[in-house]
Amino acid sequence: ERDAALRAVDEPATTVDGRTIPVMVNVGSVQDARDARGADGSGLVRTEVLFGDRMTAPSVAEQAAAYREIAAALGGKPITIRTWDVGGDKPLRFLPQDVEANPFLGDRGIRTFRRRPELLATQLEAIREVAGETPVQVMFPMVTTAEEVAWALQQLGPRPEGLKVGIMVEVPAAALRIETLAVGLDFVSIGTNDLTQYTTAADRTNTAVAPLADGLDPAVLRLIDRVVRQVPLGVHVAVCGDLASDPLAATLLVGLGVQELSAVGPQVPLVKAKLRQISAVDAAMAAATALTLDSAAAVRQRLK
Ligand code: PEP
Ligand code: MG
Repeated sequence: ERDAALRAVDEPATTVDGRTIPVMVNVGSVQDARDARGADGSGLVRTEVLFGDRMTAPSVAEQAAAYREIAAALGGKPITIRTWDVGGDKPLRFLPQDVEANPFLGDRGIRTFRRRPELLATQLEAIREVAGETPVQVMFPMVTTAEEVAWALQQLGPRPEGLKVGIMVEVPAAALRIETLAVGLDFVSIGTNDLTQYTTAADRTNTAVAPLADGLDPAVLRLIDRVVRQVPLGVHVAVCGDLASDPLAATLLVGLGVQELSAVGPQVPLVKAKLRQISAVDAAMAAATALTLDSAAAVRQRLK
């Protein structure tokens, strides 16, 4: 099965009943993009990983060069550049942060740049530059309120033609008001890693509570279902959290109506192979059942 998956690697992932799901790759380095096989682009460029060990902030030119290299390594397919997602478990050495009692509930993602807008400004400049040359999407992490979306769009300024703009949905509040939060955006991308940790109140880095932090928890699935159903018309819904890297979970996400997935490199061909075997109609019925179950274990059992 693995051999067949690898042979068909560059074919689109189309279900037996004809639904094509772009399967993208998550990257944190240019090498990740070079290593990717069969990806339809990148659904998540983790820029805080790409530049995480820099002692000083990278210039606009350095950033643009890295984004260009990633796009080129993916054959000019679309790339989704996430703005600095600093904080929580992800330090940026050129942006030291205060020690906090609860870093995951603190100064993270877009929140940090309200006080440091100049660091976001250079990044947005680099993104705008590259967007004139190759298909680019920009996405803002850890968004909670509509006011933050408005602020982010204001920082971005006039959108160059072809630059698509979106937010990550990884805070439960964002999922619960997606109908207003996502107005005017091109896409949203659900970050199931953080969405799971915040929904279940289980630190994603703490192994003692790992069984609670399971993205197949129906409580998390209900939030994903809500996003798909309530998002404003025409706003594309993707998932770039780790749930999309698990072929069985990926079928569930497609059943919930998610339109695009982004997985870790080695899983991309396997997720695509799985999607080619299923029917989207059957997946929708399985997803509807999953929403009624009461544990991640029960969902996993059903999927098998
Ligand atoms: C997520 O939270 O699911 C996500 C994709 O972002 P990160 O893992 O980088 O926090
Ligand atoms: Mg996240």
